Amino acid sequence: MDPVKLRLEGKKMIEIVANYWEEIRHRKPIPDVKPGYLNKLVPEHPPKTTETWETILGDLEEVVFNGSSHWNHPHFFAYFPAGIGYHSILADIISSGLSSVGFTWIACPPITELEKVTLDWLVTLMNLPEYFKNSHPGPGCGIIQSSASDSTLIAIMTARAAKVEQVKNNPSSYKWVKDETLSIFYKIFYWQSNRSIHDSTDIITPYYHDPRVFKDFVMYFCDQGHSSIEKGAMLAGVRFRKLKGTRKYLDNYGLDPDVLQKAIEEDRARGFIPFMLVATVGTTATCGVDEIEKLGPICQKEGLFLHVDSAYAGEKSVFFVILIRSFAFCEEFKYLVKGIEYADSYNTNLHKAGMINFDCSPLWFKNGTYASRYYNVDPVYLAHEYQSTSADYRHLEIPLGRRFRSLKIWFTLRNMGVDKIKEYQRKTVALALQFSKIILENEKFELFTPPHLGLATFRLKNHSNSDNKRFLDAINRDRRIHLVPSMVHGTFLLRFCVGSPLTDEDDIYHARRVMIEVYFKLFQK
Ligand SMILES: *Cc1c(COP(=O)(O)O)cnc(C)c1O
Repeated sequence: MDPVKLRLEGKKMIEIVANYWEEIRHRKPIPDVKPGYLNKLVPEHPPKTTETWETILGDLEEVVFNGSSHWNHPHFFAYFPAGIGYHSILADIISSGLSSVGFTWIACPPITELEKVTLDWLVTLMNLPEYFKNSHPGPGCGIIQSSASDSTLIAIMTARAAKVEQVKNNPSSYKWVKDETLSIFYKIFYWQSNRSIHDSTDIITPYYHDPRVFKDFVMYFCDQGHSSIEKGAMLAGVRFRKLKGTRKYLDNYGLDPDVLQKAIEEDRARGFIPFMLVATVGTTATCGVDEIEKLGPICQKEGLFLHVDSAYAGEKSVFFVILIRSFAFCEEFKYLVKGIEYADSYNTNLHKAGMINFDCSPLWFKNGTYASRYYNVDPVYLAHEYQSTSADYRHLEIPLGRRFRSLKIWFTLRNMGVDKIKEYQRKTVALALQFSKIILENEKFELFTPPHLGLATFRLKNHSNSDNKRFLDAINRDRRIHLVPSMVHGTFLLRFCVGSPLTDEDDIYHARRVMIEVYFKLFQK
């Protein structure tokens, strides 16, 4: 292939994508395929001779599109669907076309610089604290991670390292090193002062990530938090407690401050060191909210690092990233970021409600300069002449290589504009609200929690969990609409989430019609 052919074939690719979007409504939101379907369509061995583009593109429909779940189908109501705009698709072309890897500033300056600027734009648009800005003279900063899961893991490891450092600097503040002499021993001989230990063997103990210290740490999150929080804790090798959520704020599920306070006291009494709370704004099951405004002061008082997972809701407070689907853009959703000043780090997925395709998950730190020390390994081959005056994002992420994801934000905010994003977010919220109303017109249904930010939760009234599960399974087998369930404290529920920008009022009525038909087929023979 040469640039001439690239131009020719590239135009065809765009044609295919545009056609896909134009005709998506004629597809089914989920495919009718079984695991392994693809083995029958693709030969076991790679081709011996090259094939033409015509042949390959000829296979695209059967192998790829026909087997796909169509996340932007107007009848795809599962998960937190990603509402995307074409701008991010185009930005990905430029990013791939440039094919540079921005691990340090010098490795590709615009990758770092545009990310710094666009994340500052988001701080403004989402009403986040000014000190999160990269341009702010303080130590705050923002960086795009690949996913909320990465962001949470980074936050956990940052919190863990910060607490290890605190303990090492001040051993006598912890009850298991009460004695002053012992404390000096720990500080000078056992932990060393400020670098990794090279003991008599050649084994290195990382100074900030010292398992001898964090073995006693414990972190908290609500049992309504996303599975990625538990995964992050597991991978970071820290103990954790899933605190039972209470139904209170917004008549939804969230972490009660008294429950957190009690857990901290119990664990301290048992000799553990509480070090972190991961709060969620916009839980996956019911879009509940952990009230940062009330939990934050406890974290502050008890020395806990507070990370807010707003993967879904965040954007709706005109971009609020505390594990919500980023609703933070709209003024009326500002309550989602109430108490944000207590957060040490905050994350939202623009690839959920921010009209940007996967992946784009901004993460902000109140004190990024501090955090970057915990990730700093400075090999000679990465050093560059501007490293003291430029940000190197490699110090705040797991991979070294990074894509040019900020282009997606740049294109979207400049050409689509924030008003269009707000309009989209408001529409999804209104449609979910409307669905909650019209589903109740039929007395067979009841709501589980009040609709919140584009998510409605409901179930069959006076039916068991297993009936509700059969109902959900039958809906998905029917394939005209797609929903996923959830379980809260033993109750099985159905989630109806509006995300596709193509979903309109008629589609909501269509969904209800399908549900009622499926119900009658199943239960009223
Ligand atoms: C979607 C979601 C996640 C996981 O997001 P990824 O970016 O896929 O890792 C985590 N937490 C919440 C609250 C979510 O909504």
